[in-house]
Amino acid sequence: MSARNCPECGGLVASTINVCPHCGYRFEGAVNDNKSSDNAPKSAPRGENPYNSIAWGIISLILFWPCGIVSLIYYLKSDSSWCNGDVAGAESAGATSVRWAKASIWIAVISIVISLLIFFLFFSFALCYEV
Ligand SMILES: [Zn+2]
Repeated sequence: MSARNCPECGGLVASTINVCPHCGYRFEGAVNDNKSSDNAPKSAPRGENPYNSIAWGIISLILFWPCGIVSLIYYLKSDSSWCNGDVAGAESAGATSVRWAKASIWIAVISIVISLLIFFLFFSFALCYEV
């Protein structure tokens, strides 16, 4: 490990460092084996499928399981398309998965409203005829 003197402040700087730790002087064209910053990979890893959400499938399974199963099937389809590099396929399958999950939420809301209506109708009738 060699060292050199900084032209700015005269301080001793290790050859592996491009910036003087004493004054901040930048060594131009310095011998440096740390070139990874220049040769960084240009294409970032693709990572997670953005068109997919397991949360939708789980919510729809809890609310209305027939729709939840369809939603989960499309979730898996979207995931496998994504892994195969089929972005358009992953997007459309993911959208279908979310659509089925939303359908199950609507079915759950409507069935709750209907059962509440039936309950209150029955309750008011019972009150009317018993008093
Ligand atoms: Zn310096």
